[in-house]
Amino acid sequence: MKRTTVFVLFLLAGGLLFAQKPRPDAFPPAPDTLAPKALTMASTLEEMYQWNRYPTYNVYIDMMRDFADRYPELCHLDTIGLSIEGRLILSLAITGSSLTDVYRPEFLYSSTMHGDEITGFYLMLRLCDTLLRSYGTSPDITSLLNTTRIYINPLSNPDGTYHGGDSTVAGAWRYNSDMVDLNRNYPDPFGTPPLDSLQPENQAMIAYVERHNFLLSANLHGGSEVMNYPWDSFTSQQRLNEHSEWWKEVSKRFVDTCRKVDPMRFRDVNHRGYVNGGDWYVISNGRQDYFNYYHNMRELTMELSTSKKLSTHLLDHYWQCLSQSLINYIKEIHHLDDTTTEGIQLVDDRYCVYPNPTRGKVCIDTPQGGRSLDLSGRPSGVYIVNIDGHAVKIVKL
Ligand SMILES: [Zn+2]
Repeated sequence: MKRTTVFVLFLLAGGLLFAQKPRPDAFPPAPDTLAPKALTMASTLEEMYQWNRYPTYNVYIDMMRDFADRYPELCHLDTIGLSIEGRLILSLAITGSSLTDVYRPEFLYSSTMHGDEITGFYLMLRLCDTLLRSYGTSPDITSLLNTTRIYINPLSNPDGTYHGGDSTVAGAWRYNSDMVDLNRNYPDPFGTPPLDSLQPENQAMIAYVERHNFLLSANLHGGSEVMNYPWDSFTSQQRLNEHSEWWKEVSKRFVDTCRKVDPMRFRDVNHRGYVNGGDWYVISNGRQDYFNYYHNMRELTMELSTSKKLSTHLLDHYWQCLSQSLINYIKEIHHLDDTTTEGIQLVDDRYCVYPNPTRGKVCIDTPQGGRSLDLSGRPSGVYIVNIDGHAVKIVKL
C-alpha cells in the first residue's frame, strides 16, 4: 500500500457567485508605433542563442526541444495543443531537481496570443534559457526553481505570428488563422457570449489550465507598456477586483525594478505604469477575467513594449530592463496574501473526490475504500486537494 499525502490549500474566493452585464468595448487597442524597425530572423539555433533575433518557426521548435534535451532533470516539454494550421502550442515545464515529493505551487507565463505582439515571445525564450542555465550557480534562481513549478508558453498563437510564413515574423498579425481575436474569444464570466465559437488555440489553453493548478500567471502582450490588472470587464468604480490592492503593489514592484535599468519604460498609459484593466478600456471575453473568475488563479496582462513588433536591435535592451522583473513576478506566488497551507495525511493512490462544490464533507474514494475530509468548519472559498501530485479544486460553499 502506498502512502499518500494530501495537502489542502485554502484560497479566499470572494465574488465567485454573482454576475453583472458587461459593457461593450470602449475603444480599440493601442496602435503600433510607426518607428522604423528591423525584424532580423535567426534561421539556426546558434544564431538564436545570440539573442538579437526572432526565431523562425523551426528554430523556435528546435529551441524548445533543445531546452528539454539539455536539461532533462530540470524541464520537460508539454504540448498544449495545435493551432488551426497545425503548428505546435508548447509549454516548457521547469522545476528544480534537488527536492522530490514536495508541494510546489504552479506558475504560468503565456505570451503572444496576439500574434504580432512578439516582444514577449522573445523574452519568454530567453527567460527559459536563463532559468535553466542559472540553476545550480545562482542561489536565487536555484531556490526559485526548487520551490516552484514554472510553466512557460512563449507563443500561444503561432498561426498569427507566422501569418507571413514560417521563416519570418514580418507578416505577423493579431488574429489566429480564422481571423479571430483570441483575447475576445474566452467564455465571459459576466454574461456576454463570444461572437465566434471557442477557437482551438483557446480550447487547448483552457484544457491545459484545467489539468494544472496554477495559482499565479501572466499573459504577455505588446503595443503599450503597462501592467493591466483585473477586471477588464468593469471599471474600478463598477466593480473592484478583490485583490486590487495586491495587484497594485505587485505591479509597482515590477515597474520600479524595470525603471532601475531604464527610467523611461512604462509611461505611455500613465505615470504609474499600471492600471485597472477596465479603467483603461473595457473589453469582454478576454482571457484575464476568464481565468481569474473561473479558475481562481491570479492572472494579469503585461503590456511590455509600445512597439508590438519590437525592432531586433532593441530586444537585448528590453531583456535587460525586464528580466529581473519577470523573475521577481514568479516569486510573488510565494507571497499570495490569502493562501495558507496545511497537510492532511491519507492513504492510497487512486481516488475520486466528490461532491464539488460542497457545504461540508468531501469524499475521497480509492480502490481500497473511501476517506472523507470535513470542510464544514472552514470558511467558504476554494480548496486545493493535492494527492500524490494530482490536484483537485474543491469549492466550499
Ligand atoms: Zn495584445
